Amino acid sequence: MCPKAVTKDLFLQRTKKIHGNTYDYSKIHYVNMRNKIDIVCKVHGVFQQTPEHHTYRKQGCPQCGTLKAAKKLLGTKHISPALLKIYAMPDSAIKFKALFSYDKLTGILLNKRTNKTATANNKGYLVIHINRKIYRVHRIIWEMVTGSAPKNVIDHINHNKQDNRWKNLRDVTQEENSRNRSIPSNNKTGVIGVTVNYIPQYTATITIEGQSKELGRFSSLTEATEVITNARKQSGKFHQNHGIKAKT
Ligand SMILES: [Zn+2]
Repeated sequence: MCPKAVTKDLFLQRTKKIHGNTYDYSKIHYVNMRNKIDIVCKVHGVFQQTPEHHTYRKQGCPQCGTLKAAKKLLGTKHISPALLKIYAMPDSAIKFKALFSYDKLTGILLNKRTNKTATANNKGYLVIHINRKIYRVHRIIWEMVTGSAPKNVIDHINHNKQDNRWKNLRDVTQEENSRNRSIPSNNKTGVIGVTVNYIPQYTATITIEGQSKELGRFSSLTEATEVITNARKQSGKFHQNHGIKAKT
């Protein structure tokens, strides 16, 4: 839609439909849909926003938004100023510990107020929404236990993305993480790194630090498996769980 086509009257008409009487528009100097205007929240006062965000994206007062998100996470209609302060503070171990409890043995992270656990996203990771940001639960856990955010990526050692027991997590580089992968779903031989070409020929390929090296072509899977297993052992770099199926 062409922003120039929207006049001030049309904008006011639209915003009324979306936000009703929540806001006061007496201070606005409307230019077009992309120039920020002063909108007055009856609770929090003036905030600036583009008419485009205010109507098409249905955004409103940022402080009201934080309050609404906080009430949702904390499962309460009445939120104390102290609790809201914790919720609105930058992410830290202190903040996460105030909001959640974590059991190292079961791996379960609980919302202290609602007693709810996290839900999985479409990639199978448990996630939590805090102040309109999405957090992977294992990263919150890492920060709660160690006191600082993970340096790199969190590897689920047994390949179960939802098993957040402390002994199943480690902070590794992307490269290290790639040396403890689940076997890909499209793998046909049942051995990670071994592909079957025209039968009977198997190619064993090892990848270390981004460099792939073909170890040879073999007429039997047993032979290819033995060669690649030995090569990985000799490199000393692979996790013992590399290539096993994810535990569910
Ligand atoms: Zn407000």
